[in-house]
Amino acid sequence: MLSSRASSVGPMTTKITTAGPVFRPDEPGFDEELSGFQLGVQHRPELVVGATGTADVQAAVRAAAGRGVPLSVQSTGHGRLVADDGGIVVTTNRMAGVTVDPATRTARVEAGARWGDVVEKAAVHGLAPLSGSFPGVGVAGYTLGGGLSLLSRRYGYAADHLRAVDLVTADGELRHVTGGNDPDLLWALRGAGSAFGIATALEIGLVPLRTVYGGRLSFAGDDVPALLDAFRSWSAGLPEATSSSVALMPFPDIPAIPEELRGRYVGTLAVTHAGPAAEGAELVAPMREIGTPLVDTMRELPFTESGTIHNEPAQPHSYTGTNALLTELAPAVGAAAVELGGPTAPVLCVVQIKHMGGAMTREPEFGAAIGHREAGYLFSLVSPAFGGDAASARPVHERLMSAAEPWTLGVLPNLVYGTDRAPLEARSVYGEANLTRLRELKQQRDPANVFPGRVPL
Ligand SMILES: Cc1cc2nc3c(=O)[nH]c(=O)nc-3n(C[C@H](O)[C@H](O)[C@H](O)COP(=O)(O)OP(=O)(O)OC[C@H]3O[C@@H](n4cnc5c(N)ncnc54)[C@H](O)[C@@H]3O)c2cc1C
Repeated sequence: MLSSRASSVGPMTTKITTAGPVFRPDEPGFDEELSGFQLGVQHRPELVVGATGTADVQAAVRAAAGRGVPLSVQSTGHGRLVADDGGIVVTTNRMAGVTVDPATRTARVEAGARWGDVVEKAAVHGLAPLSGSFPGVGVAGYTLGGGLSLLSRRYGYAADHLRAVDLVTADGELRHVTGGNDPDLLWALRGAGSAFGIATALEIGLVPLRTVYGGRLSFAGDDVPALLDAFRSWSAGLPEATSSSVALMPFPDIPAIPEELRGRYVGTLAVTHAGPAAEGAELVAPMREIGTPLVDTMRELPFTESGTIHNEPAQPHSYTGTNALLTELAPAVGAAAVELGGPTAPVLCVVQIKHMGGAMTREPEFGAAIGHREAGYLFSLVSPAFGGDAASARPVHERLMSAAEPWTLGVLPNLVYGTDRAPLEARSVYGEANLTRLRELKQQRDPANVFPGRVPL
């Protein structure tokens, strides 16, 4: 049944007719509709459209464009930055279909689908998507923002494998965008997607992969300097099939934390080797020399269990984070991570250093709006923001970013959360040449800025 609602968005009353529900503030279901993984940022729009299909998305785009009010889209709420005040939010969680075509090694994924579902459906055919560390993350926001996968050193960014997008554009029309019919727009959607429309479905390439070798080795705080030293030289010699990172974290002294980690400063090596298990075990062996691990989960595992590698908390919570793409892993960056972000930091800070490079340095056919492909490492910070208080973490994050500044190329847009848009300065995200091309395209395709996007162009 169609829901037809007159709602006062902007200076005049907007009538919007949709198949899905429409919510206004103070109506039952409004808060639930906007709930998502990030609890520290609550959107406060004038209208929420719970889209059930393309026509609902088109109705929302036309309503927002017609009234000149802000429009944003929410899938899972993992990537929220700041609260969107006023305007219209389209929620896509009701559009979550996933189908896999093994013959063309592609998946068609609706806008609200999560990675876990794609991983499961692809695995039936011995295939895997370029998914990330956490299966609950949404495919659309992740891929349209670039998408740094567990498999990226071997296969590139997730956006490099984006083959087609069903996109509602600023005029409210639905376009099936491919490299063949609109190479410029496909290029832009591969990294800067949210500034050019609302995707209703994505077609993504899959890779033949059933199992990986991987897991975590966690070392006690005294071993952290040795872990960082070893990681620097060890990672530099790894094949492209191996992705790895080191995470440094002071674990709180609370019962929810496993006893071996509780109350301790811990350095954790995480590995995903997209190759034979014996080869992976041999590659990891030198890192076992660092000390006696507190935790060792290294094993061969089906890709359907890849979410266990980083083992991130599944409960929605408040968090704030930023990052820097680095040319190299200078010893000073590791030292700053321990000194400024370690156990004596005034706020809990999870510092992650991820090995980049490999296939991420190569452009796919039709290219992608991804900056700084030459980065050697990613330095990322996440802190809990209890009760939405991101401000207390900011001075710590700023000091850490300053320490990394001499080696900083720019920022990876996906891993910026619960903060204002300042870290997402467009030049820093895309680099000069990409930004010039993006701005020209934005001027042609969305001059009224109907889609403000995650990174303001
Ligand atoms: C625990 C955790 C693990 C993560 N792991 C990784 C990782 O391994 N690799 C990585 O690259 N990132 C990772 N991320 C970051 C993640 O990719 C971003 O937060 C991304 O924005 C999430 O997309 P979403 O759709 O789930 O979130 P949402 O918050 O719902 O959406 C984020 C933004 O994406 C855009 N968007 C969403 N849907 C559409 C659409 N249909 N059309 C146009 N634009 C849309 C909008 O700008 C929206 O504001 C992780 C985040 C968390 C919290």
